[in-house]
Amino acid sequence: KLATRIAFGNVNPRDLKWIAASLKVIPSLKNNLLSLNHPQLTALANQLVDLSNITNTIDQAIVNDPPIHLNEGGIIKDGYSSELDELRDIRKNGRSWLAKFEEKERERTGIRGLKVGYNRVFGYYIEITKSFLPQVKEEFGYTRKQSLTNAERFVTPELKEMEDKILSAQDRIVALEHEIFVQIRNYIKDYVHKIQDVAKVVAHVDVYTTLASVASKNNYVRPHFNDEHKLHIVDGRHPVVEEVIKHQNYIANSCEMDKNHEILLITGPNMGGKSTYMRQVSLAVIMSQIGSFIPAKEASLPIFDQIFTRIGASDDLISGQSTFMVEMLEANNALRYATENSLIIFDEIGRGTATFDGMALAQGIIEYIANHTHALTLFSTHYHELTYMSEDLGIRNVHASADVSGDTIRFLYKITSGPSAESYGINVAKLAHLPDEVISRAQVILQSLEDNNIEKTLTTTKPVYVEKESEVEKVLKQLDPMALSPLDALSTLIELKKML
Ligand code: ADP
Repeated sequence: KLATRIAFGNVNPRDLKWIAASLKVIPSLKNNLLSLNHPQLTALANQLVDLSNITNTIDQAIVNDPPIHLNEGGIIKDGYSSELDELRDIRKNGRSWLAKFEEKERERTGIRGLKVGYNRVFGYYIEITKSFLPQVKEEFGYTRKQSLTNAERFVTPELKEMEDKILSAQDRIVALEHEIFVQIRNYIKDYVHKIQDVAKVVAHVDVYTTLASVASKNNYVRPHFNDEHKLHIVDGRHPVVEEVIKHQNYIANSCEMDKNHEILLITGPNMGGKSTYMRQVSLAVIMSQIGSFIPAKEASLPIFDQIFTRIGASDDLISGQSTFMVEMLEANNALRYATENSLIIFDEIGRGTATFDGMALAQGIIEYIANHTHALTLFSTHYHELTYMSEDLGIRNVHASADVSGDTIRFLYKITSGPSAESYGINVAKLAHLPDEVISRAQVILQSLEDNNIEKTLTTTKPVYVEKESEVEKVLKQLDPMALSPLDALSTLIELKKML
């Protein structure tokens, strides 16, 4: 960032100090890299060119705690420019110079009553009272400037020069510091590419050391790669979730996929850890392929060409696409462009529409991947019906396990083989404290639905609300048809029809 500012010529004095501070550690970084005696690191170290000329220049020229702005001076160190030193001296010692000058002139002229003074109009002057005037000689080089009743005022070239110096010292100091600073800035500008090259090497080292320290701090393992279309992760963890839930224990989960098991169908309750598991697998893939160790005990992975994901509800509100549409577009993207070397992560595809078409689409998608794409695929779903799909398609059922006793549910976060026994949606709803009435009604409806008879469900489950009797019903109840004449019956019927 600082180098860019140098390149654009808008670097300030404090920036230069930072550049020097940054470049100063380069030699020891270089030594450290070389001492590791690793060919790649040695190659990196050798790109760390010597820029001590820059640090030396900055150190010699710029004060330790410089201002940000250039218009107040106070940037350049004493001793760097004799001209600047002299100006500063004048600013500081102007008074004593004048006293010395006065003394010197008294001696030179022998006039005891000679005084040096100052006023705004004439500046500095030499004042000689009338009684001493006859002693003023041509050779003194005095020029008359002002006559008073009892004195005359004179100037000399030396005094005028000094006056100029004193009065303009501050302005000149600022201007000169600016000039010197610009010279240094331009000098460094010629090295900006070298500074940037050094910065690039530092960035590399930064990435390597960060990955290394994270790996060692969090017990990551070096992954292996295979070309057998096999994904084998033992006791993998999600690097972020395990950090976030530190106080609890992260439950490690393995993942096994290969040519005969290309699709992992993951069922289990909401909040059971399904998407965390899928994300953890894709993070392991990404981390491995950027050259990082990964959070697992052991791992061997294929090299993936692409990762396709459909996770979470990232509604595309701006372009006006519904969640379901986004879901389908992303699914389409995966189905069209994934190869057998890709990884596909589908989190509950199809949930954005009605149960039956959602389920049908999900199954269609899985079959398509199994028959055509052959990408390794993790597919989480709530549609239990999907778990009955043929294992011949290379589908392996796993589930996020949970402990259910009575109404309460405890998530175990262990991904276990086989399909989940149920969805536990109602248990989770209860955890969320939905009204008891909703929960108990849902349980009744669920029971009927599971008996697989929707009609029966609608007619026989006892509604929780009691419908009010209508007016027509009330009248009908009181009628005795046998007591009515045919004509009365007809008119009553017309009446009822009107009421209705
Ligand atoms: P799902 O996708 O099944 O609804 P999530 O993957 O979103 O569930 O997980 C819900 C929460 O459970 C996570 O935010 C995390 O706090 C916790 N969790 C998930 N997996 C684990 C695990 N393996 N160990 C510990 N906690 C976990």
